[in-house]
Parts: sequence; structure tokens; C-alpha cells
Amino acid sequence: MSEKIPYKIYLSENELPTNWYNVRADMKNKPAPLLNPATHEPMKFEDLRAVFCDELIKQELDETTAYIPIPDEIREFYKMYRPAPLVRAYCLEKKLGTPAKIYYKFEGNNTSGSHKLNSAIAQAYYAKKQGLCGVTTETGAGQWGTALSMACSYFDLDCQVYMVKVSYEQKPFRREVMRTYGAQVTPSPSETTEVGRKILAEFPGTGGSLGCAISEAVEAATKQEGYRYVLGSVLNQVLLHQTVIGLETMTAMDKYGIKPDVIIGCAGGGSNLGGLISPFMGRKLRGEADYQFIAVEPASCPSLTRGKYVYDFCDTGHVCPLSKMYTLGSEFMPSPNHAGGLRYHGMSSILSQLYDDKLMEARSVEQTSVFAAAQEFARVEGILPAPESSHAIRVAIDEALKCKETGEEKTILFGLTGTGYFDMYAYKAFNDGTMSDCIPTDDEIAKSLAKTPKI
Ligand SMILES: *Cc1c(COP(=O)(O)O)cnc(C)c1O
Repeated sequence: MSEKIPYKIYLSENELPTNWYNVRADMKNKPAPLLNPATHEPMKFEDLRAVFCDELIKQELDETTAYIPIPDEIREFYKMYRPAPLVRAYCLEKKLGTPAKIYYKFEGNNTSGSHKLNSAIAQAYYAKKQGLCGVTTETGAGQWGTALSMACSYFDLDCQVYMVKVSYEQKPFRREVMRTYGAQVTPSPSETTEVGRKILAEFPGTGGSLGCAISEAVEAATKQEGYRYVLGSVLNQVLLHQTVIGLETMTAMDKYGIKPDVIIGCAGGGSNLGGLISPFMGRKLRGEADYQFIAVEPASCPSLTRGKYVYDFCDTGHVCPLSKMYTLGSEFMPSPNHAGGLRYHGMSSILSQLYDDKLMEARSVEQTSVFAAAQEFARVEGILPAPESSHAIRVAIDEALKCKETGEEKTILFGLTGTGYFDMYAYKAFNDGTMSDCIPTDDEIAKSLAKTPKI
């Protein structure tokens, strides 16, 4: 196509996907099932009903239906902030002096500041449809809690958020955004749950962790009539909802005849990356096209690049089903110096299987280089990126610089998952030159991996 590609490729409302795409349907090796932590038997629909909403369990367990319709009520909500723009990073290309063509899909155009709203609204919808009173969840940095509180207020559901205590204290504004949307926010670990009290007794003064907040939120859901637990990443259902990212991207690129060579995303629990790559991976799995996929994770929490592919606990209190995934062990704690999010010890079981089958690569990057990339990007592209998103920016820039050396005109696509306005302490540390890199030793990782369950 000779027509110049615009800076921003917008789709119309009518081009918003009508189905989510379930990549498991095209995977030869399916991700391993969740196991009951007591019996080690695969979890069935009935086993999960006390914790999750019925329709979401069906999505969680469905590995054969390729296209799952997006209910109209959810599409209506999507229309408030989607389709999200696909941006050609002309300014960044020029700054780098690269022959590569760089595109990013920007998911930060909503108050939660990230892609998490795509799944929050779906999960709230199914909870409402089931006639529930409310949902409980955990949040780390606060994006998920914010997204969920927005979704719950839209559907008039009660929203109880267990927020990792260090974040609760360091990010009071996040907390206030959630409360503005009507959520009840509790610092975790707390005295309000049995598992919280147990953790506090064992580790007084702990700043908490995601794994611990998950245990509390699950307990809170199962102990209150009319409540279920919802999770913002890792699960198959979340990755499914996030495929709106990849589907829109694919439609926009197909429209202009653009074929990405490399597709890059940051990986915490794997939902944005899985959502971005799923439709492209589908083409690869069906033998219709080939792409290079790269997951980027922090060097301080390197589950894919240094973890093991085994069954592990999903939470600190061991109340959740066991999941087979690349993991660092459920007791793994990233160094407190680590500022960039993406701190979960495990990884989506779908992405774990794709990685194990060598259909996707992974790289780990150190946080000072991540913030250097964030700054470089912000200065030319105008968006202040979230530290999580900046992991993908780092590798996109690295790939573009490689093209500069080789003269290759590769097309690089990456996911820009959100904005970083609530991460200014981390930016401050970078600007002050006081940020350091923290990489766990082999011994530390081996120690937490030794505590994975024996299956
Ligand atoms: C939560 C979050 C991530 C990481 O979560 P995934 O499930 O791995 O996508 C990345 N970027 C932003 C901005 C986030 O809020």
C-alpha cells in the first residue's frame, strides 16, 4: 500500500470485536488443568463454584471454543474507551535512527490507566448477571483494583479490595480513586481474615505481597453470602477478555496491509501479552503466518527466564487451586527496591505452555534500563508510560537498534499497557540516580522453588 500510514490508526465502533478469541482451541498442547490442592485431582466446574462466577468458570475450563461472543452490555461499555488506538511511533523511529517500523497499541486511555478494565468489566458483568451482591479481589500497585471498582460501580456491585500494604501506604491516591468509585479498600495482610491474621502472626510488620492479598480476598469471598472472588491476571478467562487488544490490533494492521515481524509485551501474570498475541499466535498455530513473540519480564522477578515449569500454589496462604506454570515459588518475594510492577511469582498457564513449546521467547531486563527506555519514549512520543509497559518499550527499542546495525526494516509491534502517573516515586528515584538493579541469586530462587508442592 502506497498510502502513508497515519500516526494513529483508529477503528470505528463497528469494528470493535464481537467475539473474544480463545487461543487454547488452536493449541496442540493444551495448558495443564488447575488441580485441587488437597486431592491433586483436576478442578471441575462444581469445585470452583464457591470461589468464581459460573459463566467465568465455563470460560476458564473451555479449551475448544475458539470464538466466545462478547455480550452487548460489555461491548457498550467498551465503546466508552475502545477501540484503542494503534500508534505508529514515527517520532521514536526518527530519534533512534532505525529503519525498523515501530507500532504500539495504547491501552492507557481510561481512568484505571491500563488494559485491566477490559477484563474487569467482563467479570463484573457476569457477577451481576448471576445476581451476586459483590466481588472481592487483591491489588498490588492498584491498577486492577481501580479497574474493578470502576466496573463494579457501573453494574452497581459491592467491591472489596485487598491492597498490598506497602502499596496502600505508598500510593494513597490510587486508594482514593478506588474509594471514589465506591470500593472498600483494606491493606493486606489484615486482621479481617483468618489467613491474614496467621500471616501477621508469623511475619509481624510485613508489607504484604500479591500472593498474600489473594489468599485474603478468596477467604473473604467464600465467607460472605453472595460474593465471589475475581482476579485481574494469570487466569485463562482474563487472558481471553484481553484478546480485544490483539483482535483490534490485527484488524487495524490488516486494514493497512501491515504484518508485524516481532510482537513484544511485558509479562506480569501474562494477561496483556496473552491478549495481544493470541490472535497472531492463532495464525501461527494454524500455519497461516509466522511471527516472533517476546515476553519481557523484570530481572528481579524472572519467572519465565529463571523459573521452573511445575505445579505451584497461586497464593501464599495455599487456599487456591494449584496451577502448572513457570514459577519462582509462591514464597518468592521480589526485592523491595523493585519498582516496576510485574511482581507475581508465576505466569499464565497458557503462556507457560506456549513458552515451553518454544512458540514464544522471553527476556528479562533490569529496572534502570527499563526507566531509561521509559524516559526516552516519553520525551519523543508524549506519553508517560507505566513502568510495567516500559519493559516492552525497552525490548522494542533494543530490537529497533539491532535493525539499525543490520539495516533490516523489521516491523515491530509492542503493547503499551498503560500510563505511569501514579509511579512518580519510581521515576523520582530514576531521575535522582538512586535507582538500583536487584537480581535474585540462584540460591534465593532455588530456596523458594524447593517449596513447590510434590505432584
Ligand atoms: C497489571 C499491569 C501489567 C501486567 O499484568 P499482565 O497481566 O501481565 O498484563 C502491565 N502493565 C500495566 C500498566 C498493568 O497495570
